[in-house]
Amino acid sequence: MSAPLSGATAPSTLNPDRLELARVARRWLGASSPISVVRQALESETEVMPEFWPELVELGWIGLSVSEEHGGQGGTLADLVTVLEEWGLAVAPGPFPGSALLATLLDVHAPEFLAPIIAGAVGAVAFGGGALQAVDHGSTVLLTGEVKPVDGGSLAEWFLLPVVVEQATESEADADWYLIHRDELLVTPLRSADPVRRLAAVTAHNLSVSSDRRIPVQTHQVRDLAAVVQAAECVGVAAWCVSTAAEYAKNRVQFDRPIGQFQAVKHRCADALCRLEEARAATWDAAELDPSDEQFPLAAAVAGALGATAAFECAKDAIQILGGIGYTWEYDAHLYLRRATVARHLNGDPVPWRRRVWQLVQSGLRRSMAVDLPASAESFRPEVRSLITQLQQVDREHWNRELADGGWIAPHWPTPWGRSASGLEQLVIDEELREAGIRRPHIQIAGWVLPTLIAHGTSAQQERFIRASLRLDLRWCQLFSEPEAGSDLASVTTRAERVEGGWSLTGQKVWTTLATEADWGICLARTDPTAPKHEGITCFLVDMRNPGIEIRPLRELTGFAMFNEVFLDQVLVPDDCVVGDVNGGWSCARTTLENERVSMGSGSSFGPGLESVLDLSHRTGSTPDARVVDVLGGLLASAQALSVMGLRTTLRALSSELGMAAVGPGPEASIRKLLGVEHEQRVQEVGMELLGSATVIDESEGAVWFGGFLGNRALSIAGGTSEIQRNVIAERLLGLPRDELST
Ligand SMILES: Cc1cc2nc3c(=O)[nH]c(=O)nc-3n(C[C@H](O)[C@H](O)[C@H](O)COP(=O)(O)OP(=O)(O)OC[C@H]3O[C@@H](n4cnc5c(N)ncnc54)[C@H](O)[C@@H]3O)c2cc1C
Repeated sequence: MSAPLSGATAPSTLNPDRLELARVARRWLGASSPISVVRQALESETEVMPEFWPELVELGWIGLSVSEEHGGQGGTLADLVTVLEEWGLAVAPGPFPGSALLATLLDVHAPEFLAPIIAGAVGAVAFGGGALQAVDHGSTVLLTGEVKPVDGGSLAEWFLLPVVVEQATESEADADWYLIHRDELLVTPLRSADPVRRLAAVTAHNLSVSSDRRIPVQTHQVRDLAAVVQAAECVGVAAWCVSTAAEYAKNRVQFDRPIGQFQAVKHRCADALCRLEEARAATWDAAELDPSDEQFPLAAAVAGALGATAAFECAKDAIQILGGIGYTWEYDAHLYLRRATVARHLNGDPVPWRRRVWQLVQSGLRRSMAVDLPASAESFRPEVRSLITQLQQVDREHWNRELADGGWIAPHWPTPWGRSASGLEQLVIDEELREAGIRRPHIQIAGWVLPTLIAHGTSAQQERFIRASLRLDLRWCQLFSEPEAGSDLASVTTRAERVEGGWSLTGQKVWTTLATEADWGICLARTDPTAPKHEGITCFLVDMRNPGIEIRPLRELTGFAMFNEVFLDQVLVPDDCVVGDVNGGWSCARTTLENERVSMGSGSSFGPGLESVLDLSHRTGSTPDARVVDVLGGLLASAQALSVMGLRTTLRALSSELGMAAVGPGPEASIRKLLGVEHEQRVQEVGMELLGSATVIDESEGAVWFGGFLGNRALSIAGGTSEIQRNVIAERLLGLPRDELST
């Protein structure tokens, strides 16, 4: 039985045709390469062609991304990647990835050699190590030397081999690439870390080869494409590991609890899923590009930096979570670890890829992350443009009002507060306002409060508060956290007692941002102390000028005082300021918190912070040392993956408007919040490292970086800590059991 296309094993693609291809591939591999077939390959004395090979050739997968005019299926790299992910998930035997890679390369660079590969003759590309030495004799070259290990080499008939001329260098970096038949070479199968798909050493001894066997492809083109092919298979490997570990953690009981309730296990699963999703986003991004696109090398390098490492780390995590059983030969986890290890050591070492990411970015290359809007988007433009024209005719000081009254501040909110704008319409509005240089006012805490009023408030409350807040005539604070109720917000103890005409609130709130400036606060208070803790809470709107409220600013570690303690002593809140049902406040809190999460996680990840770090590294003058380059390359790769996750979230939201079947919400948004926060914190730290001792002089540039570093500490605390976010990821996305004590 093959795994369903959901959860950790959902394929990278968002395209419905490719989802169908993934479904077909998963079904086919489930039938043709069940684990019994994989095991046969594992135990076999020598590697033999899998029985399913002729059928696979018949399916046309080797030439999936090869143009029809060259005998292929006329698909794209994304089609191939879709099947390769399934290949990794099934840890299938047989030299399919190498053959498909060779076919894809030949399609562009030497189609005259394609026919036998597409017809099923096995191909292998030797990017494992070394290069053959050549003596150039004009129309022929004389080849000598050994290249090893070659992935899939033990069964290959055609080899694409790196060749360096005479004394040039042993490195294949500047190599020529020759296509040579096995009969002309000595091919020695090697004992392989992954016996399911074996490696070989390929030797040539004074082999005279016609120079027309030279394939006009550059080494970086071979390696870039190989990185994407490999990353795709690795995403499948990592997906199996994450879903297997999560399933096991749900069911294995120790200390009378499923082990998935222990946070050491739960958080390991969450982190593994994050790594997988990063790799998945990066691979998808590269696969969506044509390899001739000038941005392809950067996308491929990011996939190279993240793909094999994700598989390697997830496989280790899976074995750890499985415990003793994971350490056995009989359990399949080691098959995935073996495949990941080979990938990581053949073209998947993250260090050179991170260096390449850095080099490409240094040279000015950037990935543009735009969504191509369909023609239907044009129907929204005239209205947005006419708003802009109107705005440009009135005084700037009235812009807020115009924007607020027209529903332009949060167009996705329902009318009349927003414009009930579809995803597409929102993008058009953003685009047009940006182009006209119009910034929407930041409504701060109201951005989280107003959706709660829209969802749960009475129409009188909506009339009274929403428009005024959008116009910035009313400012808000959020009175949720208390000294004893932080992450466990449902433990609030502020009391609300019934009095004539309303409620009397008494208690203490803490960490209340902007309380001194706020006109109103949204407040959670306990109305039924006898009810279970989530059920006895009510949500109130509190006039901050009320008698009985005392606000004491708290100085933050930055030295500023944005947040406050708020003491409530018999503060009278009239009945018309109760939001939703009495004792139904928890659902209001969830609306507010969920909005908070989205808004905090939605900043750009390849944003100004990282650009400033790059700028700083330029200004230091000298070329950064290898360690710094590695760190910067890593940051750039993860920033890139975060941007891609943002794009994928947008595309999912727009799927039906883009004429695709709706693909539903994916895991990217919550993962991006966690990874994004930790990434931003790291960016700031790297900036400080680059600045060196000037960081600790708290003035000029030191003050900026150090101040940013201090400020960023809040990112992983406010609006749900990173630990809570890991719980959410593991519980909601992987279905791990909730901790009964923290519900
Ligand atoms: C700058 C800033 C602004 C803020 N603004 C507001 C505001 O305007 N209004 C408001 O109401 N609140 C505000 N907060 C409060 C914020 O929401 C809380 O700080 C946050 O929810 C964490 O609660 P806590 O501080 O009590 O920490 P605690 O919940 O006590 O957590 C302490 C540590 O224990 C960990 N922990 C707790 N529970 C678990 C668990 N189940 N599993 C694993 N680890 C756990 C946490 O991750 C954290 O590392 C603000 C906080 C900051 C830093």
